Amino acid sequence: MADKRDYYEVLGVAKEATPDEIKKAYRKLALQYHPDRNPGDKSAEEKFKEINEAYEVLSNEDERARYDQFGFAGMNGAAGGAGGFSGFSGFSGGDFSDIFSDILNTFSGRDSGFSGFSSGGGSSSRRGSDLRVNLTITFEEMVSGVEKKIKLNRMEKCSTCSGSGAKPGTSKHTCPKCGGSGNMKTTSRTILGMMQTVTTCDKCGGTGEVIDTPCPDCSGSGLEKKTRTITVNIPAGVETGNILPLRGEGNAGAGGGRSGDVFIVITVKEHEYFGRDGSDIYLELPVSMVDAALGCEVRVPTVEGFVKLKIPEGTLSGTVFKLSGKGLKQNGVLNRGKGDEFVTVMIDIPKKLTGKQKNALKEFASLTNEGNYENLARYNKRVKAD
Ligand SMILES: [Zn+2]
Ligand SMILES: [Zn+2]
Repeated sequence: MADKRDYYEVLGVAKEATPDEIKKAYRKLALQYHPDRNPGDKSAEEKFKEINEAYEVLSNEDERARYDQFGFAGMNGAAGGAGGFSGFSGFSGGDFSDIFSDILNTFSGRDSGFSGFSSGGGSSSRRGSDLRVNLTITFEEMVSGVEKKIKLNRMEKCSTCSGSGAKPGTSKHTCPKCGGSGNMKTTSRTILGMMQTVTTCDKCGGTGEVIDTPCPDCSGSGLEKKTRTITVNIPAGVETGNILPLRGEGNAGAGGGRSGDVFIVITVKEHEYFGRDGSDIYLELPVSMVDAALGCEVRVPTVEGFVKLKIPEGTLSGTVFKLSGKGLKQNGVLNRGKGDEFVTVMIDIPKKLTGKQKNALKEFASLTNEGNYENLARYNKRVKAD
């Protein structure tokens, strides 16, 4: 993963590129490196794959936003040993069709001989469905990033028949009703002329094959239910509502179709006293009126432990101090750096005073020798000046 090139770089576009610019850049490169134009050229093929992967992400508004935020970590959820882009089988049927038809037209009807275009096989296979998993992590886990084990109930290839659906030792044969296409074409006469409709074959359910003796363990479906525990690396700095995709970890496809994805929907628990906005941290810090008046040094909690902060003499309640670089780091973020912590001083006025304390304060008041109106004017002046 480490030697992967930035998707924007791959397509040669700016980070702010419009969807149109991205599409144009992709079209140009895809034509240039298409395997039909570069037969037997391994490096062109690699390049073609790279271009397609970059386009798959950048042409999808959600995936692009996730990539911008988390980099590659956001794209495959950094799944332990699994997931990631599965090359050509990874096409999720986004905005490819029109571009590919353009490309194929350019090659004027030649059979490209390039199986990469069919998203998940022909009529005989179906892509597995996606799974959604809700995951709640603590604020602390969000700060550092965390590895989590997630239990999944999913459909996998039946281990008895290896997904074929036929009892071991028996075989399948081509569906006699549809001739293996999986589709039925019916032509009917209507007031608008002859109309042809295509429906899924009812004999084979669109697989194009019929099974003589179904596998006893999966009743011919080729799938069995399994409970799996998978490990997921949640990057630091995620937010509630973020979705991490794990490619190919969803339900297995029928008839050899590719597996669906798992989408992990993140909830981050609120912290007792830290607030958060993006990568910035907010904290309200109580300071006694005496400390605020005389000035002091306080210990302030940050997400990485305590730091010292000097409160100057005569600090007003509501004054905000910025602790640069003491905010959150966001993994995989491209050059976004760390956030800051903003500390708002809240002057703590004592509720219960002893007689001695009251007398001391009365004596203090007699020394200041100012009425309410003078105080008001002075205060307004200071608030404006600060
Ligand atoms: Zn089976
Ligand atoms: Zn059929």
